[in-house]
Amino acid sequence: MAAAERIVFLGPPGAGKGTQADRVAGVLGVVKLATGDILREAVRAGTPLGRKVEGYMKQGVLVPDDVILEVMAQAMEKAGWRFILDGFPRTVAQAEALDRMLSERGLALDGVVFLDVPDEEIVLRLSGRRVCPKCGRAYHLRYDPPKEDNRCDVCGVELVQRPDDREDVIRKRLEVYRAQTEPVLAYYENSGRSPLRVDGVGEVETVTRRILEALGVTVG
Ligand code: ADP
Ligand code: AMP
Repeated sequence: MAAAERIVFLGPPGAGKGTQADRVAGVLGVVKLATGDILREAVRAGTPLGRKVEGYMKQGVLVPDDVILEVMAQAMEKAGWRFILDGFPRTVAQAEALDRMLSERGLALDGVVFLDVPDEEIVLRLSGRRVCPKCGRAYHLRYDPPKEDNRCDVCGVELVQRPDDREDVIRKRLEVYRAQTEPVLAYYENSGRSPLRVDGVGEVETVTRRILEALGVTVG
């Protein structure tokens, strides 16, 4: 691939999108834009946006498209339109809007990566996930523990469990994913941009290598 500056990561909640987007963004020299992290920060700071989205997030349902589009348009602009998108687009309407925003600027996506992970693994991953409330980095109690007990390797802040990583909300999020986000895969497929399907099961490093290979990126 000549350039890999605008990539979308798709996959069910807990597939490892955030974990991998951090690593791949570092290799490509672009910014990771994680919609969920942006919204959680707004909730934490108690901004008007945060107050608007908190209820949806707690229930594990999607925030309305118009709210998301405004937030992401600003974030992409700030990133200079070079990014890995993690958690956006999550509906076909969002995918169409993203295409419009890019084409208005003479830009296009360079790749869509789909991280494939089976449901039983998803539940194990999400129930053991702990996140840094400051930088958003995800850890796992067993699969990817922090160096110091329950503290972020980067910020030193105490890790927390996300309120939507409870089993009943996890089930709801998987349902929402099947109904509203899976059709985004077909949207890209049908518009000649078949998602690069990457097996998301295995060591974090191994999955990163698979993604870079799928994108045709050679690392020095
Ligand atoms: P997403 O952003 O897709 O919701 P995360 O990147 O937050 O997913 O990962 C979900 C959980 O799974 C986290 O606890 C993370 O540490 C863990 N995880 C990520 N990649 C792997 C992997 N390859 N093997 C095992 N656990 C993983
Ligand atoms: P995530 O961190 O990606 O698991 O997202 C957490 C929650 O934020 C989701 O369950 C939704 O409530 C909300 N959210 C994140 N991204 C989007 C999006 N693109 N569209 C609608 N809601 C979103």
